[in-house]
Amino acid sequence: MAAGNGVRQALSAGTQRVFFALWPGARVRAELAQAARRMQRVLRGRRTRDDSIHLTLAFIGEVDVDILPRLLAPPAGVFTPAFLLTLDNWGSWERNGIGWAAPSRIPDPLRDLAANLEGWLRGAGFELELRTFAPHVTLVRKAQYAPLPDSMMRIAWQVNEFALIHSQLAPDGARYRMLRAWPLKRGA
Ligand code: ATP
Ligand code: MG
Repeated sequence: MAAGNGVRQALSAGTQRVFFALWPGARVRAELAQAARRMQRVLRGRRTRDDSIHLTLAFIGEVDVDILPRLLAPPAGVFTPAFLLTLDNWGSWERNGIGWAAPSRIPDPLRDLAANLEGWLRGAGFELELRTFAPHVTLVRKAQYAPLPDSMMRIAWQVNEFALIHSQLAPDGARYRMLRAWPLKRGA
């Protein structure tokens, strides 16, 4: 069918770039922002904006907006209990210039939550990249590869929810917007 671009756009609902993540509260965000500043003094590069700091659980990518309602309804089997995540390690990856904070030990509920999301999404027909889950918080991009002076201060993050995030790519760093968050049950 012949249709001008404008018509096609008006007819198409469009796509959105989305991912599931852990989104820190104010205190953990401030501690991570401080770690990012310390890291950047050593590794240079571009720091993640304070209000963008997060931990990705499952990256989906561009989806048709008609699909969003399905993503906004994770089934009960996805949920884990709330958990404590201790970020006590930092470093940088030479291959992609990312400076990160991470747990030296991955809590079982974090591993389970990511695996449950992945299983649900794959089952629902989303094509996720095959990557081993390496939970990390990106603090700096385009970082030089250099050893960091000493270990990061421990950041204790009580994780009580997870969220679906919208990402708008931009040359100076993506902008994120929380679409919805779901609580995890505390104290089993
Ligand atoms: P940019 O791509 O412009 O650097 P960004 O990486 O912050 O910006 P997105 O590409 O939308 O923004 O990614 C959102 C989150 O998902 C980020 O935490 C990113 O590291 C992570 N991510 C992106 N692609 C993948 C992927 N294929 N597998 C796992 N995580 C991913
Ligand atoms: Mg990206």
